[in-house]
Amino acid sequence: MTGRLIVVSNRIPSETGGAGGLIVALHDALSATGGLWIGAEADPVETPGESLRVLSSQPYSRLGYQLSHQEIEHFYLGYSNSVLWPLCHRRPDLVDLKPAYEESYRAVNRRVARMIAAIARPEDTIWVHDYHFFPLAAELRALRLQNRIGFFLHIPFPSLGDLSVLSQPADFAEWLGHYNLVGLQTLSDVARALEMFRADPRAEFLMDGTVKFRDRITSVRSFPIGIDVEQFQKDAAAQDEQPLGKEAPESYFIGVDRLDYSKGLPNRFRAFGRYLENRPPDQRPCLVQIAPPSRERVQAYHDITRELEEIAGHLNGTFAELDWTPLRYIHRSVPRHRLARLFRGARGCLVTSYADGMNLVAKEYVAAQDPDDPGVLILSRLAGAAEELSAALLINPYDIDDIAGAIRQAVSMPLAERQRRHAACLKAVMANDATGWARSFVSVLSQVPGTLVWPGST
Ligand code: ADP
Repeated sequence: MTGRLIVVSNRIPSETGGAGGLIVALHDALSATGGLWIGAEADPVETPGESLRVLSSQPYSRLGYQLSHQEIEHFYLGYSNSVLWPLCHRRPDLVDLKPAYEESYRAVNRRVARMIAAIARPEDTIWVHDYHFFPLAAELRALRLQNRIGFFLHIPFPSLGDLSVLSQPADFAEWLGHYNLVGLQTLSDVARALEMFRADPRAEFLMDGTVKFRDRITSVRSFPIGIDVEQFQKDAAAQDEQPLGKEAPESYFIGVDRLDYSKGLPNRFRAFGRYLENRPPDQRPCLVQIAPPSRERVQAYHDITRELEEIAGHLNGTFAELDWTPLRYIHRSVPRHRLARLFRGARGCLVTSYADGMNLVAKEYVAAQDPDDPGVLILSRLAGAAEELSAALLINPYDIDDIAGAIRQAVSMPLAERQRRHAACLKAVMANDATGWARSFVSVLSQVPGTLVWPGST
């Protein structure tokens, strides 16, 4: 790459914050190219400014754009999280179409595009992240930027049928057709994206599998995202205090999810109850569920929080004994190094998403295990991670008996089988870590056909 890498995402790493996978993944590429990371400033303002503000400059520049209070409601909670999120997570019934949401979404993308255009140099490569910014390349092209622009969608790609609930479904292909490279988590996502282009009369498939949309060429490829494996292994093996304190249960399963309706938490709790109903009396495992609140001002999130509290109360009401609380439901965030220790101590991990771009928790759990005595990953086959982690116990998250059966199997699984499954999963997790993921996206982006290869285009 000759120019700088410019990363755009809704969230920007804080200067002091911990190092999540994405931050680690992009650190090298940004530092090596003197790159920039552009994201929303933390606090909303009355009237957002028209230019990016420098938030810090070491080891790479972090630049912020501002959002107004109304844009938080309409662009972020509204169109991004009450239209696109449910749409991409197979919940078109939850899509809340309001003209004001869509207007704000388009306006924020247009403004951020103007701010980027003011600082981008022709040789820079721009990497846009996630569903908050589908139209960003279209807006940048409208400002006559010819840079290579890549897009990575962290969540599932919607099906053609679900896309038709949008007020202007054809815009989706139009938005994506302005990127040089569209990166998705899995091969199934790629298949859905190609299905969308195939159904669009403006798109044409070229011999090499790329899509010509109007006068541009877009490559659609899968880049399954990874984690910072080494750091997770190190944190998990640290010999600090037991994260569950003195009252640590002898054997426990762990679930760690933002409290989101896509994670299948009600069925997870019900399945744990089903397992408890039929368990042998000497088995008394706990389920430790960590679920920090998320997007609480959106009604669907409020509803799922209430529903879970009810199921959790019922579960403990039915099964708890004086010296045993089967479900520990913790409604807050936990520092990453403690999570890693919790993962390592757990007999199994439950991932029951109905739809999930990747599900990093699944990979973190695998990385955190002691290879000599590993726990068992129970993984929804509808999570992106199932494509790589096929050696996990794959379950149908809609089928409570299937999940309960997997819990039973995990409790009694012989050591040799645990080791065999874990070794296969760990190999897959290590084959594709966070840094490798970023490197391969940027490398493909620098090689795909550039913009405006078609003569006569503007
Ligand atoms: P999503 O991006 O939909 O939230 P993922 O499983 O892909 O789901 O990523 C979630 C990330 O957030 C993981 O890295 C996970 O460790 C972290 N995380 C989730 N819940 C918590 C929590 N309670 N405390 C700290 N980190 C959490």
